[in-house]
Amino acid sequence: NGSNVFSTSSPNMLAEQRAKLARRLAIETELREALRADQLRLVYQPIVDLRSGDLHGVEALIRWHKPDGSSVSPDLFIPIAEQSDLIVDIGRWVMGRALRDLASLKGTALQALKVHVNMAASEFTSTALPDLLRAVAQELAVPASQVVLELTEGMLMRQPEQVVRVMHELRDIGFEISLDDFGMGHSSLALLKNLPIRSLKIDRSFVRDLPTGERDRAIAQTIVDLGRHLQLDIIAEGIEGDDQLGVLRACGCRFGQGWLLGRPLSLKALVHRFPNGRATA
Ligand code: C2E
Ligand code: MG
Ligand code: MG
Ligand code: MG
Repeated sequence: NGSNVFSTSSPNMLAEQRAKLARRLAIETELREALRADQLRLVYQPIVDLRSGDLHGVEALIRWHKPDGSSVSPDLFIPIAEQSDLIVDIGRWVMGRALRDLASLKGTALQALKVHVNMAASEFTSTALPDLLRAVAQELAVPASQVVLELTEGMLMRQPEQVVRVMHELRDIGFEISLDDFGMGHSSLALLKNLPIRSLKIDRSFVRDLPTGERDRAIAQTIVDLGRHLQLDIIAEGIEGDDQLGVLRACGCRFGQGWLLGRPLSLKALVHRFPNGRATA
């Protein structure tokens, strides 16, 4: 009898939830093993100065390729890691790898490169983060000013006071902070006004429909104007076509990132691709 909604859908929903939980646990277990077996990698996507064509920096992006040849997207496994203590170990691994890679660029044309590192929410609520990062940078002799920590707006909303305090400490040490996926969260302008950040990244979703999307164009222009008034660098994400690039340039957007400008590369390929630090070789 299908007339009773509860008698039919409820067991199905439970089964679905159970299956989902099981999948999550399986991924968590596999990920822990991948970390231990050193199967995680970092790739670096160019961030380009849209005026000069110079390579402004790179964003470190984590990759998980399984031994069987398949790979798992960070959009899937990072949120899972964030729900357990695993994110702490992954965050440390990412920071260590990124800073060692940066240190290895000494003596090359890319030695002054800025490296953006994505941070998880739980890392930014830890008051131990500033000392930890300072120690890693010191040990590897990497200037803090070359390390840009990316955090998303959403992270700010969870424990704003604590996150802002950690941000100030990090900035005082010399690290730069960038607000990622800007426009997707709910950070108030009042909060933004007092954040010790250097840059805002326009979320890819606003870039996708440029140049035909009137409203997206208005949003991009508004973020660029906001950046100018607050003295923040603006970086547009997800630039895939010349038309999008054209609109962003017309808006006065200074920096950009996307497949058009460069796919994420291994460190070795990056050095090879930019022998003199210029995006337009
Ligand atoms: P995100 O920080 O916003 O990174 C930008 C994402 O856009 C990356 O996806 C990048 O590969 C992708 N992308 C870049 N250019 C284009 C483009 O032109 N078109 C399209 N469609 N996509 C483009 P990815 O590498 O899959 O990473 C997804 C998200 O996972 C990141 O978003 C970030 O939130 C998270 N993530 C990645 N690496 C790390 C990490 O090391 N630590 C932490 N905590 N999170 C990470
Ligand atoms: Mg990012
Ligand atoms: Mg982003
Ligand atoms: Mg994102």
